[in-house]
Amino acid sequence: MRIDKFLHAMRIGTRTQVRRLIKDGHISANGERVLSGKQQVNPVNDAVFLDDEQVRYQQYFYYVMNKPVGAITATTDATDKTVLDLFNKTDYRDDLFPVGRLDKDTEGILLITNDGGLSHALVSPAHHVTKVYEAEVTGEITADQVAGFNDGLTLKDGTELQPAQAEIVAFHEIENFTTIRMMIHEGKYHQVKRMIGTLGERVVQLKRIKFGSLTLPVGLLAGNYRALTDDELVALK
Ligand code: URA
Repeated sequence: MRIDKFLHAMRIGTRTQVRRLIKDGHISANGERVLSGKQQVNPVNDAVFLDDEQVRYQQYFYYVMNKPVGAITATTDATDKTVLDLFNKTDYRDDLFPVGRLDKDTEGILLITNDGGLSHALVSPAHHVTKVYEAEVTGEITADQVAGFNDGLTLKDGTELQPAQAEIVAFHEIENFTTIRMMIHEGKYHQVKRMIGTLGERVVQLKRIKFGSLTLPVGLLAGNYRALTDDELVALK
């Protein structure tokens, strides 16, 4: 492949930055200075260096994002901002996609990768990846009410839900809403909202704080993302 494409794909810089690095003599391949972005390299076998640092081939990329309200979990959209639109030019790759989905008005932890195998394993119903949500819910909900989720549910449209665990975190008397933490083991459409709907109440704010072994990183503000650490990746697989 072209060396400029390779360097961009390895997130060395934007296309413009890569062009400049080559022009300024910072890039070498197999010990020879690279003079043109058109030069062909074998990403796996050739030794490409940016100054003294080897640019190693990486096939898969993994990011954890704190999805903000208003962005949709898609790769492109004609009208709405997608979670991929929040990537900067260096990290963006057109093969990245979000794993699973969160509603437009839900915020919180979202894995974004180009690893189709891992994504499939994590969203497949057979794997039951645990997700934890924090929901602000209208009205005063009791522990007894949410204890009913432990037995599983059948929604009005016949959708069967597996047992889920829920606990009351707080009741906010002035605003008259309850904060509930819910752990669910599947990912049905609007699942949390529909479960709360069975109690005759409504979710006014929803945040996912855990996805499998991943916890929403402290300090990762809504709209921001970072690469997964090696430990996080090992735990996830
Ligand atoms: N349940 C919902 O209702 N919405 C989400 O975004 C995720 C879970």
